[in-house]
This record gives sequence, structure tokens and C-alpha cells, in this order.
Amino acid sequence: MRIPLIAGNWKMNKTVTEAVDFITQVTDKLPAPNEIETAIAAPAILLKSMMDANTGDRLQIAAENCYYENEGAYTGETSPMALKDMGLHYVIIGHSERRRYFNETDDIINRKVHAVFDNKMIPILCCDETMGRRESGEDIHWVVSQVTAALKGVSPEEAEHLIIAYEPSWAIGSGKSASADQAEDGCYLIRQTVADIYSDEIANQVRVLYGGSVNPENVSGIMNKDNIDGVLAGGASLDEKTFLQLVQYKK
Ligand code: PEP
Repeated sequence: MRIPLIAGNWKMNKTVTEAVDFITQVTDKLPAPNEIETAIAAPAILLKSMMDANTGDRLQIAAENCYYENEGAYTGETSPMALKDMGLHYVIIGHSERRRYFNETDDIINRKVHAVFDNKMIPILCCDETMGRRESGEDIHWVVSQVTAALKGVSPEEAEHLIIAYEPSWAIGSGKSASADQAEDGCYLIRQTVADIYSDEIANQVRVLYGGSVNPENVSGIMNKDNIDGVLAGGASLDEKTFLQLVQYKK
């Protein structure tokens, strides 16, 4: 059984004080992690304080990015080994903003996926799709090629723990979510791609999330689709009340 995952991606939007306030307010209001798993991904500078404030076992604190080397002369980068040492389980890799603003290529993303697995953590691998590609019918090829490139050399034993987020870039931060059916189509395509690379069994274990303008009004429709195991929410994860509303979606 795939446990649903409601994950937030704060991006560069909170100070340490604000992050700690948020964690302190939500931590005892979340469901048991064997019913619904919850996670908040934040920039590296916030993570230690968030971990310290997260006194229960209900919320996963996740990183939004890391480098593909564990140590060395890489000024300003975040070591995956240091994230593991801090007690993290999840790292977002390949978010469309990293691809677009920081020139992360498929090769860099593949190296980062390996670095996360090598450190015994789990990547939340994001793949995107642009409106132009959707209109021209190129989107299928694009999503398949991003997933395939990111998973090059990843073993079946690693792959079964993967989390993959389908995030159409036209829906991210735009207030225009994909419809529940469009989200289901994208997530189904990703699961099929995993089945083609590995097996049906592994594809059935991988959790596939939808991300792009998820909010308390549309979350239930999205979460009740067969191939969608969770959401990755940006804007709607910033406010405690709204994040809790996402977690309390109607089954
Ligand atoms: C995201 O950044 O991954 C995201 C989905 O953002 P938003 O929910 O704000 O569209």
C-alpha cells in the first residue's frame, strides 16, 4: 500500500523565526505517519532549527536541493552527507526552478539522485512540462525523457523507494492548477515510465505526487485519483492553517 504524502515546498520564503513558529504550531495537529505522511521542504539554512522544533514523529523535514558531491571545494553548496547526518530522509531534486534559474541539466539531476540514494535518503524527483509542449503533444516525450535521464544507473532496490512529482511548469505558482484528470494523466504516464524502466511491481511501489497550484479547494479531487499518491504544494504550504487544510483533504 502506498501511504499518501502531503508535502510542502517553501522555497526562499521564510526566516528561521517564521519557520520555527510554523513547525511549533502544526506539529501536534498532523495525522499519524502510517495514515498520511506529511513533509515540509525548506532551504538548508532553516533545516536545523526546524528539526529541533519538530518534537513529534509526524512531520518530515526535507531539503529543497543538495549538491552531488559529499565534500570538497564547492563554495556555497549543500552536502547530501551533511543532510543525512542532520537526520533528513527526503531531498527535492530537479525542481523546475532549479532547472530554469540554476541551469540544472538532466545529467546534474541524475548525479544528485545518485548522491541522495548513496547517502541513504530518498529523492523527491520533480519533472516538469510546459504549456507549449502540452499544446504541441510533445509533453509525453518530455516527461518520459526527464524521468528516464534522472534514473539512469539507479538500481531497482533504490527505485522502489522513489517519490516522483509531476509538476507542469504552467501550473506552478500560477494559480491555474491542472485539472484532476490532467494531473492523473501525468502521474499515470510517470508510473508507466517507471514500469517500462524497471517493472510493474516497482512502479506500484513508487509514490507519484502532483504539484502545481494545489489548494484546499482542489486537493481532494486530485488526491482521489488512482495514480496520485500525494501533492507537492508551494504557496499553499506557507500558511499553517492552509497546510493543515491540505492534510485534511476529503477521502
Ligand atoms: C512548487 O513549487 O513545487 C509548487 C507546486 O508551487 P505552487 O503550489 O505554488 O504552484
